[in-house]
Amino acid sequence: MSGEDLFSVKMRASLEEDGVARHISGAEKILSERQVYSCVNSLIERGLHHDKGEADFLNLKIEKVKAEEIVYFDALKVTTVDVDSCEEGLKEIDKFLREINAPDYTLIKPFLEETYSMRGAMLLDVNKLIRLEPDPQRGIRATYMDQERSSGELVSNSKNHYEEAIVLATKVVNCPGIIGEICISDDPQYVTGYVASKEVGYRRITKLKEMGSENGGRIFLFDSNKATVEEAIEFLQKRKVIVRHLVKLASSAPAREDPMETLAAYNDSLKEKNLYRSMKSIDSAQTSHIFMDGREYVLMASNSYLDLTTHPYMLDKTYEALLKYGAGSGGSRLTTGNTVMHDALEAKIAEFKNTESCIVFNTGYVANLAAISALMRGGGIIFSDELNHASIIDGCRLSKCKTVIYKHNDMADLEKKILENPCDFGLVVSDAVFSMDGDILNLPEFMRICKKHRLLSMIDEAHSTGVIGKTGHGIIEHFGLDTVPDVLMGTLSKAVGGEGGYVCGSKVLTDYLRNTARGFIFSTSLSPAVMAANLAGIELIQREPERVKALQDNVVYFCNCLKEKGLDISSETAIIPIVIGDEKKALDVSEALFNSGFYISAIRYPTVARGKARLRVALMSSHTHEELQRAAELIADQIV
Ligand SMILES: *Cc1c(COP(=O)(O)O)cnc(C)c1O
Repeated sequence: MSGEDLFSVKMRASLEEDGVARHISGAEKILSERQVYSCVNSLIERGLHHDKGEADFLNLKIEKVKAEEIVYFDALKVTTVDVDSCEEGLKEIDKFLREINAPDYTLIKPFLEETYSMRGAMLLDVNKLIRLEPDPQRGIRATYMDQERSSGELVSNSKNHYEEAIVLATKVVNCPGIIGEICISDDPQYVTGYVASKEVGYRRITKLKEMGSENGGRIFLFDSNKATVEEAIEFLQKRKVIVRHLVKLASSAPAREDPMETLAAYNDSLKEKNLYRSMKSIDSAQTSHIFMDGREYVLMASNSYLDLTTHPYMLDKTYEALLKYGAGSGGSRLTTGNTVMHDALEAKIAEFKNTESCIVFNTGYVANLAAISALMRGGGIIFSDELNHASIIDGCRLSKCKTVIYKHNDMADLEKKILENPCDFGLVVSDAVFSMDGDILNLPEFMRICKKHRLLSMIDEAHSTGVIGKTGHGIIEHFGLDTVPDVLMGTLSKAVGGEGGYVCGSKVLTDYLRNTARGFIFSTSLSPAVMAANLAGIELIQREPERVKALQDNVVYFCNCLKEKGLDISSETAIIPIVIGDEKKALDVSEALFNSGFYISAIRYPTVARGKARLRVALMSSHTHEELQRAAELIADQIV
């Protein structure tokens, strides 16, 4: 609505107490003439009858504002950071300060505390850390601003703190020299505050002080190299600013679509992109041969690499535990859900992994989520391989820590990133065997770097345990190392043939996780029968190392078959990726193989990058050479 003369309307109401005028309420708007008439009544009403007291003095000022005096800015984009505590909230302020290259929060904090008694804001020179307001008692007030209104729009007569704050912040961050703003409300009932800058936008932080506290204030962070104090004050106090495109809070937003329609539309969009997932239902046990809809298939997509799920010993042990302990565990590990079977399994895994201790989680996914978020609960930096499993990524997200992604299995890049991101406490985390590419982490170099830089080292052995190393003990055996990562995570649901996840390491580590890992503490434990199955699975890997050998031989044999058919594909693990690229083509090839009786999954985005769709062949120790030969032929027919 540029081009039209408008009116600035300001209302200020106060009450005299002991000879001093106490502020009761205030408001300011920039309106068309018509809107002024309808608005002043409600402003008077608001000023005279306020919760904070009945005012005895009301000042109403109406000034004409010429069209050419007005500048327009787009409203800052609003985001919200949900935090659980003040400490977390203040950390967000620190993060913001770093984003805008301002001094650390430790340096800003004393100034923020000085603002608690001020009516206006502090203008702080971030270069010299000195205050610049001419009147330090009052501080600086930004004025002459409003949101854009269409001329027909009625002006709401209730105060909207949220909209007013965005209007103010938008004016402030557009002021010459100001690089950002920090605001904590002095309203004892209101603990949400915000930080704002042109780049960051308006970022609400849901907790910046304790409920009931009046310790609020406002700092404008000023870069004295960019403008003079006079220019800034002139802008804040005199410039007429109208803020455009302000997005209203949900309550005043226009009617939304039916939420289910939104979900349905998303499903449809996935279908269009060949990214929609549907499930096949297997009607037999997870072995190298399965049945679906009455037809038999060779299964070359399972993570049950050693084909243990139907091993007679496994079934006997599971059945025995089922009869003795029943079907469910009835509680979390820390309450009633811990049995001698759980203890025995943890002891067994620790023995198998040659570590002091072990803690079992309900799945590998939860193990990563719970362990990473617990380890990093005090802050720090995580260094994570770009191809790490989703559960690691989600663990990093849940930790809310800065996560630095390094190039896949590129130890030089890892070290470079570590040097570029100094920290007091850090974690480096990687898959041992990468779940979609089947390649192996360069563990010796990984360990060297972690030790050198004193960072926690964590590996995920989901596809390593039972698969690599001469006797299937995993990546450490594979490399013949004598140093072990601090955190050895893995799953019981793949080669072991059962269910669950684990973390092995020192007793200090597992004690810590038992006390802090929320995925451990707040979830009912797996049943004792499942523990028995896992225990049997590990015993079988130890007792029947020929299974591991058979699997490793099958890998070599199958890769040779592919090579003979013109597909130059190699792998040292049970995962053999055959990259096709196009999502639709990968699906078609998988479907054709399926029609020929071979179940081999097509893996697409988001499991792998867009345009990197692939067949993911997963071998078992029990596949026969004939089956492998035939599969290689069929695959080659489809794609060579
Ligand atoms: C499968 C997998 C997990 C998750 O383990 P679940 O027991 O299936 O939840 C974690 N990390 C990697 C690398 C995996 O492949």
